[in-house]
Amino acid sequence: MSDDRTRGAAEAEPRRVALVSGGSRGIGRAAVLRLAHDGFDVSFCYRSNAEMAESLQKELDHLPVRTLAVQADVADGDAVRAWVARTERELGPIEVVVTSAGITRDKPLMLMGDDDWHQVLDTNLDGSYHVNRAVVVPMMKRKSGSIVNVSSVSGVYGNPTQANYSASKAGIIGFSKALAKEVGRFGIRVNAVAPGLIDTDMTEALGDKAREDLLRAIPLRRFGRAEEVADLISYLSSDAAAYITGSVFEIHGGITI
Ligand code: NAP
Repeated sequence: MSDDRTRGAAEAEPRRVALVSGGSRGIGRAAVLRLAHDGFDVSFCYRSNAEMAESLQKELDHLPVRTLAVQADVADGDAVRAWVARTERELGPIEVVVTSAGITRDKPLMLMGDDDWHQVLDTNLDGSYHVNRAVVVPMMKRKSGSIVNVSSVSGVYGNPTQANYSASKAGIIGFSKALAKEVGRFGIRVNAVAPGLIDTDMTEALGDKAREDLLRAIPLRRFGRAEEVADLISYLSSDAAAYITGSVFEIHGGITI
Protein backbone atom coordinates (compact mmCIF):
# COMPACT_ATOMS: atom_id res chain seq x y z
CA MET A 1 0.00 0.00 0.00
CA SER A 2 1.14 3.54 -0.68
CA ASP A 3 1.50 5.40 2.59
CA ASP A 4 -0.11 8.48 1.03
CA ARG A 5 2.36 10.83 2.73
CA THR A 6 4.78 13.44 1.47
CA ARG A 7 8.21 11.90 0.91
CA GLY A 8 11.67 13.44 0.53
CA ALA A 9 13.53 16.13 2.35
CA ALA A 10 12.56 19.77 1.93
CA GLU A 11 15.42 22.07 0.94
CA ALA A 12 15.97 25.73 1.65
CA GLU A 13 15.88 26.91 -1.99
CA PRO A 14 12.50 27.67 -3.64
CA ARG A 15 11.06 24.49 -5.11
CA ARG A 16 9.11 24.04 -8.33
CA VAL A 17 6.05 21.83 -8.13
CA ALA A 18 4.44 19.63 -10.79
CA LEU A 19 1.12 17.78 -10.58
CA VAL A 20 0.41 14.68 -12.70
CA SER A 21 -2.92 12.84 -12.87
CA GLY A 22 -2.70 9.11 -13.57
CA GLY A 23 0.95 9.23 -12.56
CA SER A 24 1.38 5.71 -11.22
CA ARG A 25 1.54 3.82 -14.53
CA GLY A 26 2.35 4.25 -18.20
CA ILE A 27 2.79 7.71 -19.73
CA GLY A 28 1.91 9.48 -16.47
CA ARG A 29 4.53 7.48 -14.57
CA ALA A 30 7.19 8.32 -17.16
CA ALA A 31 6.15 12.00 -16.91
CA VAL A 32 6.44 11.92 -13.10
CA LEU A 33 9.95 10.45 -13.33
CA ARG A 34 11.04 12.84 -16.07
CA LEU A 35 9.73 15.93 -14.24
CA ALA A 36 11.41 14.74 -11.02
CA HIS A 37 14.68 14.38 -12.95
CA ASP A 38 14.05 17.91 -14.25
CA GLY A 39 14.07 19.00 -10.58
CA PHE A 40 10.35 19.31 -9.84
CA ASP A 41 8.75 18.19 -6.62
CA VAL A 42 5.94 16.00 -7.96
CA SER A 43 2.45 15.19 -6.74
CA PHE A 44 0.64 12.45 -8.60
CA CYS A 45 -2.69 10.71 -8.28
CA TYR A 46 -3.90 7.26 -9.22
CA ARG A 47 -7.28 5.56 -9.08
CA SER A 48 -6.82 2.24 -7.28
CA ASN A 49 -3.46 0.50 -7.82
CA ALA A 50 -1.62 1.55 -4.66
CA GLU A 51 1.20 -0.96 -5.24
CA MET A 52 2.24 0.76 -8.46
CA ALA A 53 2.09 4.15 -6.74
CA GLU A 54 4.27 2.88 -3.92
CA SER A 55 6.81 1.35 -6.33
CA LEU A 56 7.05 4.71 -8.10
CA GLN A 57 7.56 6.52 -4.82
CA LYS A 58 10.40 4.11 -4.05
CA GLU A 59 12.06 5.00 -7.39
CA LEU A 60 11.60 8.70 -6.61
CA ASP A 61 13.18 8.27 -3.17
CA HIS A 62 16.56 8.15 -4.95
CA LEU A 63 16.09 11.68 -6.28
CA PRO A 64 16.50 14.94 -4.33
CA VAL A 65 12.85 15.91 -4.71
CA ARG A 66 9.72 15.74 -2.58
CA THR A 67 6.84 13.58 -3.78
CA LEU A 68 3.23 13.07 -2.90
CA ALA A 69 1.12 10.12 -4.07
CA VAL A 70 -2.60 10.42 -3.51
CA GLN A 71 -5.46 8.08 -4.36
CA ALA A 72 -7.97 10.31 -6.15
CA ASP A 73 -10.45 9.41 -8.88
CA VAL A 74 -10.28 12.27 -11.41
CA ALA A 75 -13.95 11.71 -12.26
CA ASP A 76 -14.73 12.94 -8.74
CA GLY A 77 -14.39 16.73 -8.62
CA ASP A 78 -14.26 16.84 -4.80
CA ALA A 79 -11.43 14.29 -4.73
CA VAL A 80 -9.45 16.29 -7.31
CA ARG A 81 -9.95 19.56 -5.42
CA ALA A 82 -8.79 17.89 -2.20
CA TRP A 83 -5.69 16.45 -3.95
CA VAL A 84 -4.78 19.83 -5.47
CA ALA A 85 -5.34 21.67 -2.15
CA ARG A 86 -3.21 19.15 -0.29
CA THR A 87 -0.45 19.44 -2.89
CA GLU A 88 -0.34 23.23 -2.56
CA ARG A 89 -0.36 22.93 1.25
CA GLU A 90 2.39 20.31 1.46
CA LEU A 91 4.57 21.03 -1.58
CA GLY A 92 3.74 24.62 -2.56
CA PRO A 93 2.27 26.46 -5.57
CA ILE A 94 1.77 24.25 -8.61
CA GLU A 95 3.67 25.43 -11.68
CA VAL A 96 3.33 22.50 -14.08
CA VAL A 97 0.31 20.23 -14.63
CA VAL A 98 -0.02 17.08 -16.72
CA THR A 99 -3.34 15.25 -17.10
CA SER A 100 -2.62 11.66 -18.08
CA ALA A 101 -5.35 9.71 -16.24
CA GLY A 102 -7.33 7.92 -18.91
CA ILE A 103 -9.15 4.70 -19.79
CA THR A 104 -10.56 2.90 -22.81
CA ARG A 105 -13.75 0.82 -23.17
CA ASP A 106 -13.51 -0.11 -26.86
CA LYS A 107 -16.59 -1.38 -28.71
CA PRO A 108 -18.38 -0.63 -31.97
CA LEU A 109 -21.05 1.99 -31.26
CA MET A 110 -23.82 -0.50 -32.03
CA LEU A 111 -22.63 -2.60 -29.05
CA MET A 112 -21.70 0.29 -26.78
CA GLY A 113 -23.60 0.65 -23.53
CA ASP A 114 -24.30 3.83 -21.63
CA ASP A 115 -21.76 2.75 -19.00
CA ASP A 116 -19.01 2.35 -21.63
CA TRP A 117 -19.74 5.86 -22.85
CA HIS A 118 -20.04 7.57 -19.48
CA GLN A 119 -17.06 5.87 -17.80
CA VAL A 120 -14.74 6.99 -20.58
CA LEU A 121 -16.12 10.53 -20.81
CA ASP A 122 -16.22 10.89 -17.00
CA THR A 123 -12.59 9.84 -16.58
CA ASN A 124 -10.94 11.28 -19.68
CA LEU A 125 -12.84 14.50 -20.34
CA ASP A 126 -14.50 15.41 -17.03
CA GLY A 127 -11.32 14.24 -15.26
CA SER A 128 -9.18 16.64 -17.31
CA TYR A 129 -11.71 19.42 -16.67
CA HIS A 130 -11.62 18.79 -12.91
CA VAL A 131 -7.82 18.98 -12.76
CA ASN A 132 -7.53 22.05 -15.02
CA ARG A 133 -10.35 23.81 -13.17
CA ALA A 134 -8.76 23.17 -9.78
CA VAL A 135 -5.35 24.59 -10.74
CA VAL A 136 -6.23 27.48 -13.02
CA VAL A 137 -7.25 30.17 -10.52
CA PRO A 138 -4.08 29.96 -8.39
CA MET A 139 -2.04 29.97 -11.62
CA MET A 140 -3.90 33.08 -12.81
CA LYS A 141 -3.17 34.81 -9.51
CA ARG A 142 0.55 34.00 -9.85
CA LYS A 143 0.50 34.83 -13.58
CA SER A 144 2.39 31.72 -14.62
CA GLY A 145 1.90 28.04 -15.30
CA SER A 146 2.02 25.30 -17.90
CA ILE A 147 -0.63 22.65 -18.49
CA VAL A 148 -0.18 19.65 -20.78
CA ASN A 149 -3.33 17.61 -21.37
CA VAL A 150 -2.83 14.12 -22.79
CA SER A 151 -5.13 13.56 -25.76
CA SER A 152 -4.63 10.91 -28.48
CA VAL A 153 -4.42 10.50 -32.24
CA SER A 154 -7.89 8.96 -31.80
CA GLY A 155 -9.08 12.41 -30.78
CA VAL A 156 -7.58 14.02 -33.88
CA TYR A 157 -8.45 11.42 -36.53
CA GLY A 158 -11.09 9.18 -34.91
CA ASN A 159 -10.69 5.44 -34.51
CA PRO A 160 -13.24 2.68 -35.09
CA THR A 161 -14.50 1.00 -31.88
CA GLN A 162 -13.44 4.13 -29.99
CA ALA A 163 -16.32 6.58 -30.48
CA ASN A 164 -16.37 7.17 -26.72
CA TYR A 165 -12.59 7.48 -26.39
CA SER A 166 -12.20 9.56 -29.58
CA ALA A 167 -14.94 11.94 -28.39
CA SER A 168 -13.24 12.34 -25.01
CA LYS A 169 -9.83 12.96 -26.58
CA ALA A 170 -11.21 15.38 -29.21
CA GLY A 171 -12.95 17.16 -26.33
CA ILE A 172 -9.60 17.54 -24.56
CA ILE A 173 -8.17 19.24 -27.65
CA GLY A 174 -11.04 21.73 -27.93
CA PHE A 175 -10.90 22.31 -24.19
CA SER A 176 -7.13 22.94 -24.25
CA LYS A 177 -7.35 25.41 -27.14
CA ALA A 178 -10.22 27.32 -25.52
CA LEU A 179 -8.40 27.52 -22.20
CA ALA A 180 -5.17 28.59 -23.90
CA LYS A 181 -7.07 31.55 -25.38
CA GLU A 182 -8.61 32.41 -22.00
CA VAL A 183 -5.47 32.33 -19.89
CA GLY A 184 -2.60 33.26 -22.20
CA ARG A 185 -2.70 36.84 -20.96
CA PHE A 186 -2.12 35.51 -17.45
CA GLY A 187 1.15 33.88 -18.54
CA ILE A 188 -0.36 30.39 -18.54
CA ARG A 189 0.33 28.01 -21.43
CA VAL A 190 -2.00 25.12 -22.28
CA ASN A 191 -1.04 22.44 -24.79
CA ALA A 192 -2.13 18.93 -25.71
CA VAL A 193 -0.09 15.92 -26.73
CA ALA A 194 -1.67 13.31 -28.99
CA PRO A 195 0.21 10.02 -28.80
CA GLY A 196 -0.27 7.14 -31.22
CA LEU A 197 0.43 3.60 -30.01
CA ILE A 198 2.60 3.63 -26.92
CA ASP A 199 3.76 0.53 -25.06
CA THR A 200 1.85 0.66 -21.75
CA ASP A 201 -0.72 -1.49 -19.94
CA MET A 202 -3.37 0.24 -22.07
CA THR A 203 -2.01 -1.28 -25.31
CA GLU A 204 -0.89 -4.54 -23.66
CA ALA A 205 -4.41 -5.90 -24.15
CA LEU A 206 -4.05 -5.92 -27.95
CA GLY A 207 -3.78 -9.43 -29.36
CA ASP A 208 -0.72 -10.54 -31.38
CA LYS A 209 -2.55 -10.29 -34.70
CA ALA A 210 -3.82 -6.74 -34.02
CA ARG A 211 -0.34 -5.76 -32.91
CA GLU A 212 1.27 -7.13 -36.09
CA ASP A 213 -1.27 -5.31 -38.29
CA LEU A 214 -0.71 -2.07 -36.41
CA LEU A 215 3.06 -2.37 -36.61
CA ARG A 216 2.80 -2.63 -40.39
CA ALA A 217 0.88 0.67 -40.40
CA ILE A 218 3.54 2.50 -38.39
CA PRO A 219 6.35 3.81 -40.65
CA LEU A 220 8.83 3.55 -37.75
CA ARG A 221 7.70 -0.10 -37.26
CA ARG A 222 7.44 0.02 -33.48
CA PHE A 223 5.20 1.26 -30.71
CA GLY A 224 6.41 4.35 -28.89
CA ARG A 225 7.85 4.33 -25.38
CA ALA A 226 6.21 6.18 -22.52
CA GLU A 227 9.55 7.91 -21.91
CA GLU A 228 9.43 9.39 -25.42
CA VAL A 229 6.07 10.99 -24.66
CA ALA A 230 7.44 12.16 -21.31
CA ASP A 231 10.34 13.87 -23.13
CA LEU A 232 7.80 15.86 -25.14
CA ILE A 233 5.79 16.69 -22.01
CA SER A 234 8.99 17.80 -20.26
CA TYR A 235 9.86 20.08 -23.17
CA LEU A 236 6.38 21.62 -23.30
CA SER A 237 6.53 22.17 -19.52
CA SER A 238 9.89 23.93 -19.73
CA ASP A 239 10.88 27.53 -20.39
CA ALA A 240 12.24 26.40 -23.77
CA ALA A 241 8.58 26.17 -24.84
CA ALA A 242 7.72 29.65 -23.50
CA TYR A 243 6.10 30.72 -26.80
CA ILE A 244 4.08 27.55 -27.38
CA THR A 245 0.44 27.46 -26.36
CA GLY A 246 -2.83 26.11 -27.75
CA SER A 247 -0.93 23.52 -29.79
CA VAL A 248 -1.48 19.82 -30.29
CA PHE A 249 1.67 17.74 -30.60
CA GLU A 250 1.26 14.38 -32.31
CA ILE A 251 3.77 11.67 -31.38
CA HIS A 252 3.02 8.46 -33.26
CA GLY A 253 5.91 7.11 -35.34
CA GLY A 254 4.11 8.25 -38.49
CA ILE A 255 0.97 6.08 -38.17
CA THR A 256 -1.30 8.91 -39.31
CA ILE A 257 0.62 10.02 -42.41
P1 NAP B 1 -2.23 3.17 -18.34
O1 NAP B 1 -0.90 2.54 -18.50
O2 NAP B 1 -3.45 2.32 -18.34
O3 NAP B 1 -2.19 4.07 -16.99
C1 NAP B 1 -3.33 4.80 -16.64
C2 NAP B 1 -3.02 5.62 -15.40
O4 NAP B 1 -4.16 6.47 -15.16
C3 NAP B 1 -2.83 4.79 -14.15
O5 NAP B 1 -1.94 5.46 -13.31
C4 NAP B 1 -4.24 4.78 -13.54
O6 NAP B 1 -4.28 4.56 -12.12
C5 NAP B 1 -4.67 6.19 -13.87
N1 NAP B 1 -6.12 6.34 -13.88
C6 NAP B 1 -7.02 5.72 -14.66
N2 NAP B 1 -8.27 6.11 -14.36
C7 NAP B 1 -8.13 7.01 -13.36
C8 NAP B 1 -9.05 7.79 -12.60
N3 NAP B 1 -10.38 7.72 -12.82
N4 NAP B 1 -8.57 8.62 -11.65
C9 NAP B 1 -7.24 8.70 -11.42
N5 NAP B 1 -6.32 8.01 -12.10
C10 NAP B 1 -6.76 7.17 -13.06
O7 NAP B 1 -2.49 4.25 -19.49
P2 NAP B 1 -1.44 4.96 -20.48
O8 NAP B 1 -1.31 4.13 -21.68
O9 NAP B 1 -0.26 5.41 -19.74
O10 NAP B 1 -2.31 6.24 -20.88
C11 NAP B 1 -2.11 7.49 -20.26
C12 NAP B 1 -2.84 8.55 -21.05
O11 NAP B 1 -2.34 8.56 -22.38
C13 NAP B 1 -4.33 8.28 -21.14
O12 NAP B 1 -5.04 9.50 -21.09
C14 NAP B 1 -4.48 7.66 -22.52
O13 NAP B 1 -5.75 7.88 -23.05
C15 NAP B 1 -3.41 8.41 -23.28
N6 NAP B 1 -2.94 7.72 -24.47
C16 NAP B 1 -2.35 6.48 -24.37
C17 NAP B 1 -1.91 5.87 -25.54
C18 NAP B 1 -1.24 4.51 -25.52
O14 NAP B 1 -1.01 3.95 -26.59
N7 NAP B 1 -0.88 3.97 -24.38
C19 NAP B 1 -2.09 6.49 -26.77
C20 NAP B 1 -2.70 7.73 -26.83
C21 NAP B 1 -3.11 8.35 -25.66
P3 NAP B 1 -4.53 3.05 -11.54
O15 NAP B 1 -3.25 2.30 -11.79
O16 NAP B 1 -4.78 3.25 -10.09
O17 NAP B 1 -5.68 2.50 -12.31
